[in-house]
Amino acid sequence: AGPGGADTQSNGGPTGAVPGPGGGRVALVTGANRGIGRVIAQRLAADGFRVAGTHRSGDVPAGVLGVRADVTDVEQVDAAYKAVEAELGPVEVLVANAGVTRDTLIMRMSEEDWDTVLETNLTGTFHVVKRAARGMVRARSGRIVLISSVVGQLGSAGQVNYATSKAGLVGMARSLARELGGRGITANVVAPGFIETDMTADLDEKTVAGYQAQIPLGRMGTSDDVAAAVTFLAGPGGAYVSGAVIPVDGGLGMGH
Ligand code: NDP
Repeated sequence: AGPGGADTQSNGGPTGAVPGPGGGRVALVTGANRGIGRVIAQRLAADGFRVAGTHRSGDVPAGVLGVRADVTDVEQVDAAYKAVEAELGPVEVLVANAGVTRDTLIMRMSEEDWDTVLETNLTGTFHVVKRAARGMVRARSGRIVLISSVVGQLGSAGQVNYATSKAGLVGMARSLARELGGRGITANVVAPGFIETDMTADLDEKTVAGYQAQIPLGRMGTSDDVAAAVTFLAGPGGAYVSGAVIPVDGGLGMGH
């Protein structure tokens, strides 16, 4: 893609010959090239949504329309939406999933560590939500799902930047739920716990064992565990759920 460009790349075309719970509605997932976002996009497509996914690098899965976008760049986000609208129609379900970590203790955390995480996780989400709201308000319907984290409520040593950004998403979703509810739009947060992806792949065995000891279910989660909650919120069962924070953490964050 050129600067601000949104090359579309259709990997086999949208699925959904037999409409599932998605009923052919258009869903956009950010960060759909790998990890949790990739599986969310696949699950939505399997449920009968017509799915587009943003990617900075790599490819989106088969059956998903790929649009290149860095969520920190408002022009790239706008171009991505234009490409999706032209190919599939207005976005009816937004899953804001793209996120990064730059973990280190507060005394060592640089301005750049802070800025990168806040600009991606919080400001990037603002960009995609704001652009989605336009079409949803016009349609008087929509579903917004923000992927936060258990650490937004629980806190996490070494993740002051990340936990702050993820806590911010709760305020964002609840404000959206109040502001846009009258237009038939829901806004919810899914708060995953410790999920096996690239993001957690570098953790040493001792840290992993330490986490697992605190998880009532005694195991790490999978991207499928997270996708199940997202597809619920996007589907018919989520119609009357708004402003909720749904934990998918094996019980790790209970009580928050
Ligand atoms: P990964 O690191 O596996 O994937 C992150 C995704 O976000 C990639 O597709 C990446 O694109 C994309 N991304 C990052 N920065 C940008 C950007 N500026 N613009 C566009 N896309 C971007 O992470 P996970 O799949 O594990 O995490 C997905 C979400 O779930 C994140 O928001 C994360 O915070 C959250 N989460 C994850 C948990 C876990 O244990 N794994 C726990 C709780 C929450 P690219 O490939 O180009 O880098």
